[in-house]
Order: sequence, then C-alpha cells, then structure tokens
Amino acid sequence: MSASDGCQKLTTSSKSVETVELIVCPDCGERSNSATRYGEMHACIACDEPLGRDLTLEEERLPVFTCGACGEETPPFYEHLGHVGDVSVLNCSNEDCDYIVAAMLDNGVYKDPNDLLSDACVGEVDSVRQNKQVTVVETREQKAAVQLLNIEAKNEDTTFSLYKPEHANAFLAYHDGTAVGYLTWTAEPAEDTRSGKVAVLRQIFTLPTFRRTGIGTLLLEQFKQEAADFTDDLYAVEGANTQTLRLLKAAGDVDYTITDEGVEPTKTDTVAFLKSNPFRKLASELARENQ
Ligand SMILES: [Zn+2]
Ligand SMILES: [Zn+2]
Repeated sequence: MSASDGCQKLTTSSKSVETVELIVCPDCGERSNSATRYGEMHACIACDEPLGRDLTLEEERLPVFTCGACGEETPPFYEHLGHVGDVSVLNCSNEDCDYIVAAMLDNGVYKDPNDLLSDACVGEVDSVRQNKQVTVVETREQKAAVQLLNIEAKNEDTTFSLYKPEHANAFLAYHDGTAVGYLTWTAEPAEDTRSGKVAVLRQIFTLPTFRRTGIGTLLLEQFKQEAADFTDDLYAVEGANTQTLRLLKAAGDVDYTITDEGVEPTKTDTVAFLKSNPFRKLASELARENQ
C-alpha cells in the first residue's frame, strides 16, 4: 500500500545501520528483500526484469528504522516505500501498523519524520514570540514539513484535503525549532471588494500536543495580514471545522451564543464561510456530547 492512499501517521523512530541481505536488480538497481515469482523463475519487484532461477543475495550495510509505535524494524526496501507529495516515505514493515517510520526529500537519505520537521526551520523569521515563530513556506524542506503535517491533519479530520504546494500559499509554525502547525490559503476572485479578490483560508492545523499554546492564533494573525492586502476586515474560510470556529471566536472575528436550540451566530460580518457551516457543525457536536 502506498502511503498516499491510506490513513498513515507519523511516529518517532530510531535508526541503526545493519548488515542486510538483499537482492540487487542488475537492470534498475532496485534493492529488495523479495522478488516476484513466475513459477520457478524470479523477477525484479520494481521493473519486472527476470532475475533467474536462483537469487543472488548481496550483503549491504543499510539504515534500519525501528518503529516507535510497534517496535518493528524496517529497512528501506521497495515494498515499504510510498509517496506523500514530494516526500518519499518508508512505511512500517508491520502490515498491521499504520505508521510512517522515515521520510526523505530528494537527497537519498531517509530520516525520522520528526527530523524533517526540524529541518524546515530555516530562513527568515516573520514573527518571534517566545519560542514560537511563523514563516512563509518557500523552501523544499518547508513544503515537505507541511506535507508531513498534512498527513496528521487528514488522519484527524477527513475533510482536510491533500496539500499541493503549487496550488496554495502556506505558513509554517514552529515551536522550539520544529514545525508543529501550518496554514494554507489562496486569493480568489470576489465581487464587491476593492481589489476584486478575497483571501481564503483553506486549512489550519496544529499538532494536538501544541494546541492551546497560541500557535493557531499566530498562524491566523499572519494570514490576516496577507488578507488585508485584498480587502479590509473581510476574509473567507473554506470547510471550517469547530476547532477553527473556536479559534476565530478567540480572535474576535466571529461570535456566537449557545442556546437550547443550538448555536446562534451573533457576529459574522468579517468572515465568509465557504462550503461548510461551522455553527451547524458545532451545534451537532454539542448535541452529541449531551446525549
Ligand atoms: Zn529491476
Ligand atoms: Zn510500526
């Protein structure tokens, strides 16, 4: 299964270098611990070129990642590899385990996914507040970090869509030098605004451990600075969930009261909600909690 198809998650992993026996394909160079079988003949798992009746095993020193979730050891073999956007990922070799144990950009070195989240912290810092900061996403490392965090976002809430760097602007938020949250946005045509455009907040996500620490607020403030270039005091939010609604309330951009009947919006003039009504989402969440 390729990582982009399923509900994968990030974990910490420990890396060791071990001697591994493997098959090296003379045609495409793929390294694997298994081959496709056609009767008594073998073929390369990647390119399907014949490898003969008897397989030649070669010993090689390879990085092996021990899964932080299940403890299984995974070398970077073809059958465990997948892609998340530009990021190559190594899935845990335990088939019952949902975790990504390593990730790689295009430099050929697999790393603990958390190391890629730390690598993203380079470049200009837009705002500094204690140990938190936000940057515009520009480098490949930063785009990769958003792609990895997007995996966690999609796991938690299936309404999050796949982040494609070429289709959206993004900010990355860091805590102590590690990427822990992101925001994506686009500028869309709009009638009745002085610029003819409006900024649309597409996704905002913070890793659960770092919620209620001001990361979301910091991301929202950066976005609102961009949004003000298009129209004063108005921006749009697409597919807002209840976490986003609470964040917007804390920022003073929307307000609502909770009544016996449900959730009553009382201030909505600065935010236009697209494709979802977060007040209704909140009302049904509260009703479920009260059952
Ligand atoms: Zn091959
Ligand atoms: Zn595992």
